[in-house]
Amino acid sequence: MQAGFKLSAHGNACSCNPRIFSAAKPTSSSQRPSRTRGLTTVVRAESGDYYDLLGVSKSADKKEIKQAYRQKARKFHPDVNKEPGAEEKFKKIGEAYEVLSDDNKKAVYDRYGEAGLKGGMGGFGGAGGASDFSNPFDLFEQFFGSSMGGGFGRSGSTRSRAVAGEDERFDLQLDFMEAIFGCSREIDVDRMTGCSTCDGSGVKSGTSPSMCPQCNGSGQFVQAVRTPLGAFQQVSTCPRCEGAGQVFVPCEKCGGDGRIRESKRISLKVPAGVDQGSRLRVRGEGNAGRKGGENGDLYVYITVKENAELRREATTIHSDVEISYADAILGAQVKVTTVDGPVELKIPSGTQPGTTLLMAKRGVPRLGNVSQRGDHQVHVRVKIPKTLNNEERKLVEQLKELQGKVKSPFGF
Ligand SMILES: [Zn+2]
Ligand SMILES: [Zn+2]
Repeated sequence: MQAGFKLSAHGNACSCNPRIFSAAKPTSSSQRPSRTRGLTTVVRAESGDYYDLLGVSKSADKKEIKQAYRQKARKFHPDVNKEPGAEEKFKKIGEAYEVLSDDNKKAVYDRYGEAGLKGGMGGFGGAGGASDFSNPFDLFEQFFGSSMGGGFGRSGSTRSRAVAGEDERFDLQLDFMEAIFGCSREIDVDRMTGCSTCDGSGVKSGTSPSMCPQCNGSGQFVQAVRTPLGAFQQVSTCPRCEGAGQVFVPCEKCGGDGRIRESKRISLKVPAGVDQGSRLRVRGEGNAGRKGGENGDLYVYITVKENAELRREATTIHSDVEISYADAILGAQVKVTTVDGPVELKIPSGTQPGTTLLMAKRGVPRLGNVSQRGDHQVHVRVKIPKTLNNEERKLVEQLKELQGKVKSPFGF
């Protein structure tokens, strides 16, 4: 079976992920002055540094970042915090967490700032995928679950709601030529897949779910909560059944999750023209969803090995050729290694040291449009001999003498 792939193009908002929200709005860093009402400081809706947003130092470890996110996200969740700008800030906090909790994104952010995640900066290439931030509310629920309560999370029941599977990452190293012309690879991906024992239901076979005794099947319980912002009624998800309204004996194989970790072999077709930092998306080959939720996607991150003779810069190939000074003067035919194999290249007479000769269409096929190819640039180096034998010296001296005569002011 050959899995389909989808490329995340540079800078384009990925239109195939329905969970994306518009985080990539241009972040005008207009710092509105903070107003105060009573003792409560009103939130500033500035773009802000991710570290500042979470209130952590640059050296904060994952645990601190996680803790900071929990604290800040709760504080600014728009269901609780009705101050102007709270929702923006809440979203920004989610974004900050996503970046700082991911080693790759964090590295890019530390180097290039927010712009690095939005453009295709540096080695990250198309990988950054600009607006690849998850829905901040989903992120929040991942942390607090629905048990945090109805006040939190989006309105509506969480009962037996389908949960989409998480995306999975796979790192793939390609040879120089494989990246240029594409290849087929079998990869073994370790991810969560539906449990065959319980058919993904999580329920032990031979038993069936029964009504939750704590919430009598409603999946919710209501509670009055006092906060500094006033008292309100909080509809919480039933902690016993987690909102499902039902309880069951868990499947022994998957522990009730309905999924187990399993390795799967996938035939991956790598398209021609991928580069260091490219990311391939294999739809639906990530982790299985729960309760009928969609599968996550598999993202294959590409790294490319170097080549001894050829260097690559996007679709252009560079290489060096060394010729004798006699060949530079008289011209010559040399053999040059290209991605298509050895090719004869004509060095014109009178070639200057440092000249770049262009071999059109001998470069890398354009990703997504293989009929377009880049060029191969050959950088000519002229070798000047460090020692000469007597005969050579005599000839060069003769040549010098001859040139002296020829050099009249008018060339005659
Ligand atoms: Zn099971
Ligand atoms: Zn319940």
